[in-house]
Amino acid sequence: MITELFADQEFQAKLDWMDEFVRTEIFPLEILDLTWPQMLKAIAPLKEQVRAQGLWAAHLGPELGGQGYGQVKLGLMHEILGKSPYAPLVFGNQAPDSGNSEILAEAGTAEQKERWLKPLLAGEMYSAFAMTELDHAGSDPTRMSTVAVKDGDDWIINGRKWFITNASIADFMIVVAVTDAEAPAHSRTSQFIIPADTPGLNILRDIASLDHAENARSPYGSHSEVVFDNVRVPGDALLGGVGDGFAIAQKRLGPGRIHHCMRWMGQATRAFDMMCERATYRWAHGSVLGEKQTVRAWIADSAAEIQAARLMTLHAAWVIDQQGVKAARKDIALIKFFGAKVLHDVIDRAIQIHGSLGYSDDMPLAWMYKLARASRLYDGPDEVHRETVARLILRDYTAPADNTPTEHVPTRREEAIRRFAELLES
Ligand SMILES: Cc1cc2nc3c(=O)[nH]c(=O)nc-3n(C[C@H](O)[C@H](O)[C@H](O)COP(=O)(O)OP(=O)(O)OC[C@H]3O[C@@H](n4cnc5c(N)ncnc54)[C@H](O)[C@@H]3O)c2cc1C
Repeated sequence: MITELFADQEFQAKLDWMDEFVRTEIFPLEILDLTWPQMLKAIAPLKEQVRAQGLWAAHLGPELGGQGYGQVKLGLMHEILGKSPYAPLVFGNQAPDSGNSEILAEAGTAEQKERWLKPLLAGEMYSAFAMTELDHAGSDPTRMSTVAVKDGDDWIINGRKWFITNASIADFMIVVAVTDAEAPAHSRTSQFIIPADTPGLNILRDIASLDHAENARSPYGSHSEVVFDNVRVPGDALLGGVGDGFAIAQKRLGPGRIHHCMRWMGQATRAFDMMCERATYRWAHGSVLGEKQTVRAWIADSAAEIQAARLMTLHAAWVIDQQGVKAARKDIALIKFFGAKVLHDVIDRAIQIHGSLGYSDDMPLAWMYKLARASRLYDGPDEVHRETVARLILRDYTAPADNTPTEHVPTRREEAIRRFAELLES
């Protein structure tokens, strides 16, 4: 198994435990239509089991109760967690809390860690991260209208944020706001920690979307529209320094994208298993579907694509572990758009082979498909990551002299004739 390249025996035993645990304890919770309080009650003893295994909030360093595993091992863990949308919740590393805990650990003061990070890690609080605005391209986060203005020791925040995951169930929100509109683009914004019950912070709705049926609050949290109407927070709500908003936001994204991509591989594998199972028994036009050339091509293509995306992601994780996030920029951008497409295409084929059953809610494929579509948008749309990859690659190339391609055959022939004149004359 390829995993053996990356996991020692002891760690493999942990992965095996996780895989079994997620399938037997968490998969059943997906289909019970539990209310949010019922879900919290159901997962409480499961969290204890995870803690007992030393796997709780494993994305953090040992000083914060994590294992300091590094990105390759975390990636392998996230692959298993990705199989169920509830598994990250049970393991203390669900988005956006995991990213928020990372930036609180990195940029928070001792008091901020005590007040917000500790309960977040203990699973006693939930959080949201508010950056995107409807009126500006979220893919260019140097542009936004939400402002924070100093008033004595306090800050007053005004603005409107859009598609803020879990804002409606969060205990606090980390908000990015402009603090100096005249500063260079990457130093214009700062981040603030705002308790959910602060006057002037209004959750307008959970936005009806592919994965949320109505413009109403979801008890599980969804993607909210949030208004900040003269929200007053004390000076110690500032996370990091004034002007650090962009830099801190970037910190959430590197390792986080490895985790996303490996979770997608877990989802893709779950869809792949459904596809292959269906191929073995569904009979049409004289054979099971697994005998049809098209279906066999889907299976082969899906296996190759999952393998490629998985290895690319583990490679990116390995580069982070060996050389740091900066050195892995191109690899991270590569897997973000490539992995999202693999996830989408494998689920799409799994739906196709199941026909109307695949489209129905009697299989998990419909909700998997909706979540897969979002993966091409959040954490930067595909196009932006392609752009990053191409820009970084093109840095290593320069225009040839006289714009003659390096491989231009007549030019090379001329040069070769000169060089080997003696040989040619003999
Ligand atoms: C499920 C989900 C959850 C989310 N959760 C959060 C959250 O918790 N907090 C938060 O702050 N935000 C969140 N977002 C918002 C997300 O970060 C933005 O949707 C994303 O950054 C894109 O911004 P946008 O929607 O404004 O699209 P735009 O920036 O307007 O982009 C629209 C399209 O323009 C094209 N495009 C953009 N730039 C380029 C380029 N350079 N080259 C070529 N084409 C380009 C792409 O096709 C892109 O899809 C979430 C989004 C989704 C879908």
